[in-house]
Order: sequence, then structure tokens, then C-alpha cells
Amino acid sequence: MNAEILSVGTELLLGHTVNTDASEVARELSTIGINLLYAGTVGDNPQRLREAVEQGLKRSGLVVTTGGLGPTGDDLTKETVAEAAGKRLVLHEESLRRIEEYFKDRPWGESQKKQAMLPEGCTVLQNDVGTAPGCVFETADGTLVAMLPGPPSELGPMLKNYLIPYLAAREQAVIVSRNIHVFGLGEGTAAEMISDLTEGANPTAATYAKENEMFVRVTARAKTAEEAEALCEPVVREICKRYGDVVYSIDVDGLENVVVKELARQKMTLATAESCTGGLLAKRITDVPGSSEVFEMGAVTYSNRIKTQLLGVPEEMLREYGAVSEQVARAMAEGVQKCAGSTLGIGITGIAGPGGGTPEKPVGLVYLAMTDGKQTWVRKLPGGSRSRGRASLRNAAASNALDMVRRYLAGLTPVAEMGKRP
Ligand code: ATP
Ligand code: MG
Repeated sequence: MNAEILSVGTELLLGHTVNTDASEVARELSTIGINLLYAGTVGDNPQRLREAVEQGLKRSGLVVTTGGLGPTGDDLTKETVAEAAGKRLVLHEESLRRIEEYFKDRPWGESQKKQAMLPEGCTVLQNDVGTAPGCVFETADGTLVAMLPGPPSELGPMLKNYLIPYLAAREQAVIVSRNIHVFGLGEGTAAEMISDLTEGANPTAATYAKENEMFVRVTARAKTAEEAEALCEPVVREICKRYGDVVYSIDVDGLENVVVKELARQKMTLATAESCTGGLLAKRITDVPGSSEVFEMGAVTYSNRIKTQLLGVPEEMLREYGAVSEQVARAMAEGVQKCAGSTLGIGITGIAGPGGGTPEKPVGLVYLAMTDGKQTWVRKLPGGSRSRGRASLRNAAASNALDMVRRYLAGLTPVAEMGKRP
């Protein structure tokens, strides 16, 4: 089924409110294999809204509206959509009771009752968070229309708990998705490598960019979950084969999640010494529940004095090579590993910018070192070539450090020459 989203609200056109509802609806529809073909926005104006709805009814199998279901005068979506779809609005007793219940201990007016007026014969989508119910119905020529409230806190639960299950049941299909997570390959290259596989209809495969990484979602539709999984399987396997060891997980999002799980499984521990990332790596690791089992310490060693005092980085080394150097990254990793008595140690030093770069040591230059007490590996991010923000650079550095650990734990060399590293 092909769908379109119609967001209603003048505040969206003015740029006062970011249209997060549309992206939430789009994401959820894609999980059940409904293709979104259009997404539009109209102000709180009945004529233009009506035109947009009529156009939607002509070209799409499903039209989802967001916003304008509330009690106020500018909330016109239901009236306008019902009119365009040739439906009367009738009182929905249960919704009225729910609204009365909601206002039991608060003052309210007659206008609130308008929210219980819904298109004849519709399926009501309960609002567990606010007052305005949503609804979904079929027009005479078989187009589905769903209306959802504007506030994201109300739209989210209604969408996930009521509309998506309703649509999935109608489609009479089970949808299964597998996500192949990749670090170390740009989205463009990754997409080219599997271009022949992204043309299929069942399963579909599509690439998505994420900050400093990408993933491929393979989605199949079938009568049972087993059949859908079986359709996904060969495509997932083929994609993993083509990408090789830059695939860091299937269905586990975030390098830190993979790393913490794997450290725990192998009963290993980790300690970090960070300079330019300022604790971001430690933060990402400790965001993962259960990280206390594997994470010994994270030190933010910004000044040279502390690098020497805490980690034992020799003063002469700092003088000779500078704080941002392979030698110092190495000494930081080895120093923190000794200090913590952990299995693995990480050292990060670099120039996050925007200032402080030189031709020899440009902004973005980062040295990442990892040691297991016997051997130490260093990965260099050259920087300089692209101007990117401080936040993005720091995130890339933390991700690369996590990737070194991930590769080590998988029995791969932590610094292998890979595709285009983010
Ligand atoms: P209410 O009952 O609160 O009036 P409603 O369904 O009538 O809900 P609107 O009046 O259109 O919805 O919007 C209510 C609030 O929800 C807006 O002030 C805005 O903050 C938020 N909102 C509306 N539409 C969107 C959207 N597309 N994306 C994100 N937020 C939105
Ligand atoms: Mg409103």
C-alpha cells in the first residue's frame, strides 16, 4: 500500500514547530512495509486543507493526517477531512465518557465535547495520554484515512499502540526487518556495493546513514514470521559477505552495545584515557546498562601535567612529539591500562578544533591507541580534508576507538585497512 502524510498546522509552515510527527509516522509505516510517497504540510485553513485531502484521496491508498483534532476553533481537521471523504461526524459515546472522565477534577467547556465527534463507521484510536481521540476509516472507494493528534506525546503512543497494529492486521502480513550495522564504510560506497540487492520488492533492502556509520535494513513481508525471516536470510547473508568485517552487528544498534556485551562475554575489562574526546567515549560506554561489569575507569587527561602524573607519559615524549602524537596515544593507553589493571586500555589524543590546527597537525587529526598489555595498536584519523564540527569529530574519534575494541574482540586486527573510514 502507498501512503501519504498530511501535517496540519500553521505553526509548522511558520517554522515555529519542527514536524517531528511526520518523521515518526514515516518511520513507523516503513516498519510494516507501507511505502510513503508524499508528505505535505498545510496551515489551519479549511479550503487548502480540503484541496490537499482530496488530492491525497485520489493518489494514495492511505492518507494519514496529523494535528488539528483538539477542541479549539482552529482545530478543523476532522470536519474538513470527513467532508472531503463524504462522511458525517457522529458522537462517539465512549470517547465522550473518556473526555468527561479526563476532566472529572478540572474545569472544562462544551468545546471539549467536539473531540468525541468522529466520522461515521470509523475505528476509533484511543488517546491514552490526552483527550482528542484519533480515528481510521475507509472511504467509499476504498482509500484508508487515519487522523492523529498533533502533540508528539499523544501521537507516538496512538500510532504505535493502535494505528500500526490496525494497519498491519489489514495488510494480513507479518513484516520482519533485519538491520545490518556497519562502521568503516561510507553510505555511498556501501549503497553501490549492494545496488543490485536494493531493487527487490520482497525483501526490500535500503541503506541509511547515521552519524559516522550506516546501516542496511532488509524487510520482508510474508504470512508468517518464519517465512518472512526466511526471505530476509539470504539477502542479509549476501550483504554481510560483500561488506566483510566492517559489519559490526545485525540488529544491535551502536558500537558501544556490541563492545560491552562482547567484553562481558569474554570476561574482559576496559579503561580509557581521553584527551580530545573529553570523556565522550566513557559516556557512551557507561550509557550501556551492565557496563559496570566491564568498565574499570575513564580518565579525562587534558593537561600534559596530568598525562604525566596519572598515566606516566614521559615529559620528554610530550616535548619531543607533542601531546597529539602516536607515541603519546600509545603511552596513554598503556598508562591507563596499568593504572586500572584492566584487560584493555584505550588512549585518545587529537585536535578537535575549530582552532589549534597546523599544516602538520590539522584539525581532526586524532591518534587512537589500544593495548592488551602485550601489544599496542594505533589508528590515525588524518583530519584536515573535510571541515566538520567539533562534536562530529569527537564522536567519530569515540566510534573509532570502540571499533578498535570491537575488532580486537572479534579476533580481527584493530587497525586493518578498511574502506572509507568515517
Ligand atoms: P490539541 O488537542 O493539543 O489541540 P491537536 O491534535 O489539535 O491537539 P494541534 O492543535 O495541531 O494538535 O497541535 C498541538 C501542538 O502539537 C502544537 O502546538 C505543536 O506543539 C504540536 N504539533 C502539532 N503538529 C505537530 C507536528 N507535525 N510535529 C510536531 N509537533 C506538532
Ligand atoms: Mg489543537
